Amino acid sequence: MASPLEYFDDMIGHCLTYAQSAHAAGKPIVGILCEFTPRELILAAGGVPVCLCGGDGDLIPPAHRDLPANLCPLIKSTYGYHVTGENPFLELADLVVGETTCDGKKKMYELMARRRPMYVLELPQKPDDAHAYQHWLDELHKFRRELSRRFGRRIGDDDVRQAIALMNRERALRRGLAELMADDQPPLTGRQLLRLKSSISGNPADLAQYELALAQLPKRPQRQPGKHTRVLLTGVPVVHGAERVVDIIEDARGLVVCMENCTGLKPLLEDVDEGLDPMEALASKYFHLPCSVMTPNRRRLESLVDLTRKYRPDCVIELVWQACLTYSVEANATRRFVEEELSLPYLMIETDYSPSDSARIALRVEALFETVAGRKA
Ligand code: SF4
Ligand code: SF4
Repeated sequence: MASPLEYFDDMIGHCLTYAQSAHAAGKPIVGILCEFTPRELILAAGGVPVCLCGGDGDLIPPAHRDLPANLCPLIKSTYGYHVTGENPFLELADLVVGETTCDGKKKMYELMARRRPMYVLELPQKPDDAHAYQHWLDELHKFRRELSRRFGRRIGDDDVRQAIALMNRERALRRGLAELMADDQPPLTGRQLLRLKSSISGNPADLAQYELALAQLPKRPQRQPGKHTRVLLTGVPVVHGAERVVDIIEDARGLVVCMENCTGLKPLLEDVDEGLDPMEALASKYFHLPCSVMTPNRRRLESLVDLTRKYRPDCVIELVWQACLTYSVEANATRRFVEEELSLPYLMIETDYSPSDSARIALRVEALFETVAGRKA
């Protein structure tokens, strides 16, 4: 039998088989592009939530037909798939759900909506404002009604509760896997941990593999303490296919023990409270997500304190995709906080999906690790 890591090596293949058979059985396939979109409501509507974020640099040139060159590679790669029709999940999608997060995505959704069914969630961006929270709760009710109307299915509170329980289970399993990295001798590299996740949520076969990994991996410590520089990676999501910077860090004898970003722990840290009204509980969980599109975004710094205590990194590396304005500007506050409050060395890497600057990034990472080694000495 294949190990969980081998199983997830063909993650896209498994997801495609799952999505195709669900589609054939009449289940709606719903593409999502952000962690603010509550997968629970899609699952409650009988749908299959699939992440459509593009991580392939080869899909960027076709996007330049409609998009400016100076735009985040994640947006351009996602749009490149739209133009070329090369993402089978996007081609299967009965609906794409966008959200008003960063400006580039918002405007890209308008172009995509010209020939695909699109629904855009309006995300207010002041997390501490009671009116903003109420608006977000109203938005989620509207989204639930839209899914119900579009897919001809009544969505009861019990459907939402069941979906919440399923997603809480998935989050707990993935959180458990991430927590293995807190060990002095983690059984995985950061890159291997990144492989242990799926583009589709709520697939029972994936959940079984997470459980198997949690049972097997703790028995296999592989990393020797003190041999690697422990890194906390923060910033933008490291989507499937765009893992180059993680590879560079770990090739330089770094070990990414914690990923604070949206492809790491950020969406997993808080569950949906199963004791509350399900819509209120969903709104509350998702509104707490500490993304740089929020202002102010203090929760991200609070999260960095907790994660630093738990994962004991030697340094913090912030990854920012080129032309991502919110993460790029917020990096100023993050750097100051990491250096002054957490007393850790910090490095910001701004790049895109092209490997042309890999050697330069490797040099900067090595210099950071020398600083860490100097401090330890
Ligand atoms: S970083 Fe922000 S905009 Fe991007 S997926 Fe995460 S929550 Fe959404
Ligand atoms: S990385 Fe930044 S610019 Fe790119 S989609 Fe996410 S928030 Fe928008």
